[in-house]
Amino acid sequence: MNQWLSKLTAIVESLFSTNGHRNVVVPSEVAAGGVEAFRADMQLSAHFSLYELTATANASLQEENRTLTDDQVSKLSVLAAHGEKIRDIVNLPVVVHSGYRCNALNGVIPGSSSTSQHPRCEALDLAVLGQSVDDTFNILLAAAKMGSFQFGQLIIEEATRSYGVVRWVHCSVIGTLDPSKVGQVMKMVAGADGVTHYTMVDKLDF
Ligand SMILES: [Zn+2]
Repeated sequence: MNQWLSKLTAIVESLFSTNGHRNVVVPSEVAAGGVEAFRADMQLSAHFSLYELTATANASLQEENRTLTDDQVSKLSVLAAHGEKIRDIVNLPVVVHSGYRCNALNGVIPGSSSTSQHPRCEALDLAVLGQSVDDTFNILLAAAKMGSFQFGQLIIEEATRSYGVVRWVHCSVIGTLDPSKVGQVMKMVAGADGVTHYTMVDKLDF
């Protein structure tokens, strides 16, 4: 079926659904953690919305990336709270480049690991408005060393695109991260060969 017609049908069906949730467009299956459904936008915390934490530049996977279980939405609220903590520490607006990534999306991102916390709703790739990536990284690291902040991993990541090198801060919650990796502070470099390299900068005990 034509993709737009399919979407329109789903929206019309949702308007006549009897479950009382107009926002739930396509209740498709009962997965672990609740019903998996396409979600309307909602505010997860004071400054972060569900759509901000599930946005992708990959238009063909955007809808799939917003088809979530209740459990995933709850985890995204925890991730939003992590973003608020970061915002409080840097005292500037935080822009999320990538939060949740469904497996299909994670799989097509160069250098992305299958054990990434992004598909588990546990990691933010972010930039802070008016602050260099290095400053953000150093401020978050200093806050953690003073005991006022915890994370799973804190990583400066970068990638070479056609228009140049892009850099951002990856900061995850501890969540389900392998305990041996909790507190890792690293710098990632995507080599010209497409292979990503990590340099360990520090390892904190939380
Ligand atoms: Zn990341």
